[in-house]
Amino acid sequence: MTELKGRLLCNEPLAKYTSWRVGGAADQLYIPFDKQDLCEFIKSLPKDEPVFWMGLGSNLLVRDGGIRGTVINTKGRLKDMRINDDGSVYVEAGVPCAHVARFCAENGLVDAEFLAGIPGTMGGALKMNAGAFGGETWRIVKNVEMLNVTGDVTLRDPKEFSVSYRSVKSANNEWFLSANLVLETGDSAASIQKIKGLLETRAKTQPTNQPSCGSVFKNPEGDFAARLIEATKLKGYSIGGACVSEKHANFIVNTGNATATDIENLIKYVKRKVQYIHGVELQTEVCMIGEAISD
Ligand SMILES: Cc1cc2nc3c(=O)[nH]c(=O)nc-3n(C[C@H](O)[C@H](O)[C@H](O)COP(=O)(O)OP(=O)(O)OC[C@H]3O[C@@H](n4cnc5c(N)ncnc54)[C@H](O)[C@@H]3O)c2cc1C
Repeated sequence: MTELKGRLLCNEPLAKYTSWRVGGAADQLYIPFDKQDLCEFIKSLPKDEPVFWMGLGSNLLVRDGGIRGTVINTKGRLKDMRINDDGSVYVEAGVPCAHVARFCAENGLVDAEFLAGIPGTMGGALKMNAGAFGGETWRIVKNVEMLNVTGDVTLRDPKEFSVSYRSVKSANNEWFLSANLVLETGDSAASIQKIKGLLETRAKTQPTNQPSCGSVFKNPEGDFAARLIEATKLKGYSIGGACVSEKHANFIVNTGNATATDIENLIKYVKRKVQYIHGVELQTEVCMIGEAISD
């Protein structure tokens, strides 16, 4: 077997890997050296090992009891990005979305500006079909490179995935290694200016200086989760260290000492209240994983 070059950490607390700054420990966390190394590592795992991938942890609520099995963390790894001969853009799963937006803009490729303010990786954006300001990840995907549990790598067409609003369905136990993106050519300076404008809008409307996971709930058809939560008078409502943001009602912020349990309890409370007052069942956008701590 090829020697592994990544870092394997045992019983690793995940709070420092998530944007909410909460979460228990993973039994083991692997930080791959590169794509090849990651494929070798996956091949080396027992076939029944539970495996969970994370990027920048900006859409994850890891429960306080942590995650049993192996967590793969691509943050700062799998970071190659280049323009292919056919003009498409090759982006590995660990590249931050903000870098993709800037790289495309600087190379006169437009329509990836929406990625600028999304604080996750390309891998996370592919899994979530991340979107903002009218743009959506899978609208610019030409194809993706997948790794499965047996270590096989395949190039796949978007038609092979069921893609919808903040949801992408694929087979279990396969993950995104990279994507090729297709973009229109356009004016580089205008694209950079557009990014600046989008970031300013975010700073004005979102609590970007507090730990959060962005929007907690998906927008229901024809409405906005933030509007419903605000109309339920829940802005500023808190449980423990978790608080519904005063700035954007669909954000729950960690005011300093929140636990994952506080956040999950607040999510459930908001859901119940909105259902009671407005008769709308909100669906969570954030991924909740791991084990709760039993009393
Ligand atoms: C302040 C703030 C603003 C935000 N604004 C937006 C926004 O405007 N639009 C939006 O869509 N989202 C937004 N988000 C949410 C989040 O940034 C996105 O969902 C992002 O795409 C998650 O990427 P990540 O790398 O952090 O993924 P993680 O949070 O680490 O993981 C999210 C999911 O992706 C899976 N995953 C991660 N990498 C891979 C991979 N390589 N292969 C397979 N699965 C993988 C994980 O298993 C998990 O299911 C915001 C978050 C914050 C904190």
